[in-house]
Amino acid sequence: MQQTVKESASSPCNVCEGSNVSVLASHSRSGKPLRTVICQDCGLVWSDPLPHNPRSYYEDDYRVAYKGTFTPKPKHILRAGNVALYRRALLGKWIAQPKKILDVGTGGGEFAYLLQTLGHDVHGIEPNKGYAEYSKKEYGLNVQVGFIQDIQQPDSSFDLITIWHVLEHTENPFDVLTKLCALLKPEGILVVEVPTIEATCQSPKSTFHEAHIFNFNLDTLRKLGEKAGFSEVEHKISGDGANMTIFLKKCGLPTNDLPLKIAGNAERITGIVKNHTALKHYLTAWTYRRFFARMSRMIKEKQETANFESGKKLLDTLYGN
Ligand SMILES: [Zn+2]
Repeated sequence: MQQTVKESASSPCNVCEGSNVSVLASHSRSGKPLRTVICQDCGLVWSDPLPHNPRSYYEDDYRVAYKGTFTPKPKHILRAGNVALYRRALLGKWIAQPKKILDVGTGGGEFAYLLQTLGHDVHGIEPNKGYAEYSKKEYGLNVQVGFIQDIQQPDSSFDLITIWHVLEHTENPFDVLTKLCALLKPEGILVVEVPTIEATCQSPKSTFHEAHIFNFNLDTLRKLGEKAGFSEVEHKISGDGANMTIFLKKCGLPTNDLPLKIAGNAERITGIVKNHTALKHYLTAWTYRRFFARMSRMIKEKQETANFESGKKLLDTLYGN
């Protein structure tokens, strides 16, 4: 039985407001010191203290740190275009009729552009100036440069809001979901996708990194949604178990009396993380399948971007426009 050492966090838990934590990891995937804690009362996992100032990090540094560029390279456009097609399939019936949609963290604009070509009224918000300007110029998108807290849209504006792999990067996910709840129309749907902390397809030493401030499992994500005024409609877990997508609707009920603790969740997550050892990882077929999938993807990307002219031409071909 692993000994858990009780410590305290420098800020209260974003889900349950508690401060009883234990340390889950002390280093990031780059080997740098990064204190990752888990709330003993609900199982939320986060970097404490914050490893960077999220504002300046995402305005300028993030794309460089992640991808080494300020504007998307052809292979990144192609990759994001394929992800956009996957997301379209995932959304299914929710985008069957023309809707007013907000895409939070628009990135290079590939998904927002796909929605626009499908006839939706699409708005985007993206903190990275280089990516936002590129997507406006290249695809004619309606994108505001900034963070979701700065959005210039009235409440009850949108039928659908999507936020793909953004929530885990924000310094206060509860505030973000509360803001999105206000921006949705009463019958609106919010789609949130984040990586799950229960994933074991990645190398164990890759589990924690500076960019992901918060790490959720389905229980903590759902609870945070409920706290912000939503209820779950459905959820989907990706085939490799890496990502979870939750569909939330506004429930319009007061959340003051909502129990926020999640019994047994901290033990469950701690068990999964501690059991995900390097030895087990390298003994699973997933590891090798992912390696070969990555190799064949690189070859395919080289072929498909060989005659690159523009982002728009590449996506139009990919989307069959
Ligand atoms: Zn908590």
